[in-house]
Amino acid sequence: MMEASNKPGSWRRLWNLILQAKPPKLLLLTALLLSVMTTLAGLILPLFTKNLVDGFSAASLDRKQIVALGTVFLAQAIAGGLSVYMLNLGGNRVVAAIRERLWRKMLALPVAYFDRHKTGETISRMTNDTAVVKGLVAEHFASFCTGILSVAGALAIMLTMDWRMTAIMLLVFPVTALMMMPVGRAMFRISKGMQEETARFTAVLNRVLSEIRLVKASGSEPVEYVQGADGIEKLFRFGRREGRAQAVLSPLVSFVILLLLVTIIGYGGAQVSAGAITAGELVAFILYLFQIVMPLTQITHFFTQLQKAKGATESIIEILESEEEDLESGERNVPEAGTIEVDRVSFAYKANEPVLKNVSFTIEHGKKTAIVGPSGSGKTTLFSLLERFYAPDEGAIRFGGRGIETYALSAWRRKLGYVSQECPIIAGTIRENIGYGVDRIVSDRELEEAARLAYADEFIRQLPEGYDTEVGERGIKLSGGQRQRIAIARALLRNPDILMLDEATSSLDSRSEAVVQQALSNLMAGRTTIIIAHRLATVADADRIVFLDKGRVTGIGTHDELYRSHATYREFADRQLKLDDSAAS
Ligand code: ADP
Repeated sequence: MMEASNKPGSWRRLWNLILQAKPPKLLLLTALLLSVMTTLAGLILPLFTKNLVDGFSAASLDRKQIVALGTVFLAQAIAGGLSVYMLNLGGNRVVAAIRERLWRKMLALPVAYFDRHKTGETISRMTNDTAVVKGLVAEHFASFCTGILSVAGALAIMLTMDWRMTAIMLLVFPVTALMMMPVGRAMFRISKGMQEETARFTAVLNRVLSEIRLVKASGSEPVEYVQGADGIEKLFRFGRREGRAQAVLSPLVSFVILLLLVTIIGYGGAQVSAGAITAGELVAFILYLFQIVMPLTQITHFFTQLQKAKGATESIIEILESEEEDLESGERNVPEAGTIEVDRVSFAYKANEPVLKNVSFTIEHGKKTAIVGPSGSGKTTLFSLLERFYAPDEGAIRFGGRGIETYALSAWRRKLGYVSQECPIIAGTIRENIGYGVDRIVSDRELEEAARLAYADEFIRQLPEGYDTEVGERGIKLSGGQRQRIAIARALLRNPDILMLDEATSSLDSRSEAVVQQALSNLMAGRTTIIIAHRLATVADADRIVFLDKGRVTGIGTHDELYRSHATYREFADRQLKLDDSAAS
């Protein structure tokens, strides 16, 4: 990442990223202007003070001056407040625009992207990295500009007031800078390391907490404890190093400020007693000193933030430049009926590790095709290719005589329905779950009819709030069979022409199993069905079985044919396929 951020043009990329977020230029410019005015007012204040102090010594207090001073104070406060608000507004607009762009992009990224990237990292792009860019726009850039102005202005005024005193003061700065440089650099390294470690630690938390059941069931608490404790320890060490650097830095800063003060007061005091300058001038000088020292820390802070923002930009841009799925281009009219031809398809997730090898078979319209094979043989991958989550490396999949990649992705996916083993439930009501992904208005009657056909109606009615019962993360937990029936109802409502089923390997109790089977047969009726089969009843019922072994098709036929002619299939069927009550009865 360090390398990437030092690439030429990365400044430009940061700049472009901000520009593309259409920052409210007028607002930000006004805010900047107000900041500048605030700073200028701040520069005038010591001059007033000087007059005030010198006026005191003349023993008469000028009312006008006090009023003027008060007015400037007030104006400064108002302008300052306004500019802070406007800068924040601008920064938030920018971050919202970048996030919106990222979110649209993330949803459009192909499944392959999510194979390559950890979820936690992708989330961090969205939350942390965009926040860094916001900080730059909302805060650091303005304080940088006003900081420069403040330093330059204060210096200019001091030079005109007393150039010798200014020169003495300026001498201190390069010496200080030289002393502070190594500490500053160490600070930067520490904060970078801390950021990376925090990301790693978050990833551990994410992984463990989201799979807490697995962790407990497998008794992995001690192992996970060590992992987390390791992260905590590392963060502690970074914190300690940071503390050490700070321990060197902050007395150094205080020392320098004190040194400056002593020098200025010592030298200036002598000048005052010699009558070379007035007491007011000395006070003003000291005030200006602060107007130089304070902004300096802001300016250095700006540079560290800029570095961070550059890194964040690289990560954001990496996502924005990733290739996305094109949902809309291509033929929108997918024929209603057609044969699916899988023609000499080969596919690998990683180069040289083929998962599907020269796979060919056809799925006829309205027929039921079962895919059978040992685990890891590539059945799910085949489904993913049909869904066009990935494209085959070789060969083609055709529907109705033309390659499925020529259809618009959205139209193609609308044609498919997928009921997976896990039957994912989204957090929300039962109604929302059944209606999820259905792109038309669904009446309650229609929804309940789907639930009825899925044999889900009865148990839903018995829930405390019926169809409006919350399920998922914060709601009630559904049983395996109930989840499957919700998934089936969802598929029924979606009404796809081609149905893809991933039969559950885990067994339900025989009553639920029987109900799920009945629901499934309602769902399959009249549709082309491709099913990853684990049950004897399913394969016996299929029009055609495709036997997949280590990515190759080694047999195609009905159960009886394959059982007779294909030794591996026979062995597999005897050992793996589950006999169940509903088929037996
Ligand atoms: P099956 O569904 O028959 O059990 P899969 O299609 O899930 O088989 O897996 C086939 C092979 O592909 C396995 O070796 C698996 O490790 C690998 N595989 C599956 N998904 C991915 C993925 N997203 N990235 C890399 N390899 C994968």
